[in-house]
Amino acid sequence: SSRQSEGSQLPRYVRVNTLKTTVEDAIDYLKREGFMYHGQAGRMEDLKTLCGKTFIRDLHLPELLVFPPKIDFHDHFLYQAGHIILQDKASCLPAYLLNPPVGAQVLDACAAPGNKTSHLAAIMRNKGKLLAFDLDAKRLATMSTLLLRAGVTCQQLANQDFLKVDPESAEYSGVEYVLLDPSCSGSGMVCLQDGSSEPLDAGRLQALAGFQLRCLNHALRFPKLRRLVYSTCSIHTQENEEVLSACLKENRRFRLVPLLPSWPERGLAPLPQCLRASPASTLTHGFFVAVLERRAEGEEEEE
Ligand code: SAM
Repeated sequence: SSRQSEGSQLPRYVRVNTLKTTVEDAIDYLKREGFMYHGQAGRMEDLKTLCGKTFIRDLHLPELLVFPPKIDFHDHFLYQAGHIILQDKASCLPAYLLNPPVGAQVLDACAAPGNKTSHLAAIMRNKGKLLAFDLDAKRLATMSTLLLRAGVTCQQLANQDFLKVDPESAEYSGVEYVLLDPSCSGSGMVCLQDGSSEPLDAGRLQALAGFQLRCLNHALRFPKLRRLVYSTCSIHTQENEEVLSACLKENRRFRLVPLLPSWPERGLAPLPQCLRASPASTLTHGFFVAVLERRAEGEEEEE
């Protein structure tokens, strides 16, 4: 299908795992293997023209290397050893934008298989507390393997329904950062969508949006929460802007943070603070990301 061919045309993104190596060492290793390094990209067009054994550094995300479409690193030493993580550029945005400080207490509410958790651990330099929940035991098992390979040690995994976690519990009294990447329709995943996949009916979309809003409202109840990132790999407004708008109406103590001014695709009106991603504009899968921050005491709430 056209969406499959769209997916196979996307550049391949490699996130350097800074728990195991540095961007410079990964670049040197690849150069010694015969890859040509073209330096840092200056504009989106530089990501489109890659071919053969060449790569560049991404223009938005500092730990991201960009390769031509179809290159496969699954059997590569750097992947096997956990020095690189094979992760789409859009899915690197949530941890990067949450940007928890070293030593922070962070909660990843719907965490498996854990690429974003491993990215959070790298940003926290494995220091602090990284609580990661998932409802699905099998996915959590995969996640343990992934985190082990990535050298993550600051995590506490739990097979938990996030909606049943009590935000008022003493265990979570220090949680200041939440990453919320709940189940979604997956409508942004270009390679996974093909003619044979079930059409998304209105009822399913509504159920997902209801779940996502419950998760978001629940996450905002952690008493010390300062900053939260919400993301989906959906292109549907119902799972993205509409969930955020409904949540902001109910939670006047939080505001949307304007994100990356240079990012080419924005949240649909009235939420231009948020980011969208798509094959056409950002050379990634379809994605949505929003950051909420607690207002300062006494701060005016704009309408
Ligand atoms: N953040 C993950 C990553 O980057 O690898 C991907 C998360 S995936 C989009 C959504 C996850 O939410 C699934 O693994 C699913 O099992 C989990 N999930 C669904 N409902 C949940 C709930 N009520 N509590 C916790 N996890 C849930």
